[in-house]
Amino acid sequence: MDREQQGNGAVQVSVELGALTSVANDPQVAVRVGPVVASLVNGVCGDPLLQLRLLHQSRSLLFDLGDTGRMPLRSAHQVTDIFITHCHADHIGGFMWFLRSRIGYFPPCRLFGPPGLMRHIAGMISGILWDRVEDRGPRFVVHECHGDHLKRWKITAGDTAPTPLEDQATPDGVLLREPDFQIRAAMLDHGTPVLAFAWEPFGKLQVRNDQLQAEGLKPGAWLHDLKMAVLRQRPDELISPDAGRTLRAEDLARKLLIQAPGEKVVYGTDFADTPENIRKMTELAEGAHTLFCEASFMAADEAQARHTHHLTTRACARIAEAGQVRQLIAFHFSHRYDRRRDEVYLELKGFTDRLVIPD
Ligand SMILES: [Zn+2]
Ligand SMILES: [Zn+2]
Repeated sequence: MDREQQGNGAVQVSVELGALTSVANDPQVAVRVGPVVASLVNGVCGDPLLQLRLLHQSRSLLFDLGDTGRMPLRSAHQVTDIFITHCHADHIGGFMWFLRSRIGYFPPCRLFGPPGLMRHIAGMISGILWDRVEDRGPRFVVHECHGDHLKRWKITAGDTAPTPLEDQATPDGVLLREPDFQIRAAMLDHGTPVLAFAWEPFGKLQVRNDQLQAEGLKPGAWLHDLKMAVLRQRPDELISPDAGRTLRAEDLARKLLIQAPGEKVVYGTDFADTPENIRKMTELAEGAHTLFCEASFMAADEAQARHTHHLTTRACARIAEAGQVRQLIAFHFSHRYDRRRDEVYLELKGFTDRLVIPD
């Protein structure tokens, strides 16, 4: 909500966030980054909702879940994980649509978010009468990020209460690690805790032929086993590079393999321009291929940005510059600029040439 004092003393209330505004004219913004396509489903002005499609897996990850009016139902069936920055209406309002789309025999969907997420999810689930759902209730594993660990629960629509699961550590802020990518998060401040996320793919594992020769080893099927042990995080798996030797995968990999860094995609929105936030977000965005970052207000409206714990164009550009990202896609523009989008982009362009202006 955005309150402005008018000259005549009246307070004009204009809905800034969580507004169900039409995004009919705001095109989706999609970028291809290696094996994924990242799309801002509601464009740069609509509710935040970034869909990351993993092209070779018929699988999607969602970052925030604002207005879902543009999401085809089948796309909900391919979602395995949802990463919620925080639970303001424009970031989680689409959960009711998602919930409905997952009635049936789907695997549990993992949800990640800041402290309090479980309460909000349970509240939305309990808002519906589930008497006809039998064993087809949507299932979730909810993860709340608390510093260096995740608190976790299992919840099924129709069941009475969530079941607590064991806590999980988040080494270096990594919330989820899979064979070919990981999701890292940073906790920021927006007057409430907010998470920003990085999708970090692992580059190809390459064999160092010089080391292979130095060790007197011959290439063979064991190298494939070694790579799989690394990708599947099995450091203690035993590998036999030749008849006479059996070694731990981790020890062998340290000598023989190198992994090129992949091209990462970073998503951050709804946080204040504080030194701590800027430092953490810059670290997360460091060297990213694409940074999706909020730029809610123009520099002249800095007081409003401060008041609502959002960034200005200047602060957004500063993160892109300091993090040396390849391209910046600025979004979550305040609706006050709906007819002045060119001015916002012109201002951003003045601060950074890493900016991409969608067609
Ligand atoms: Zn927002
Ligand atoms: Zn917010």
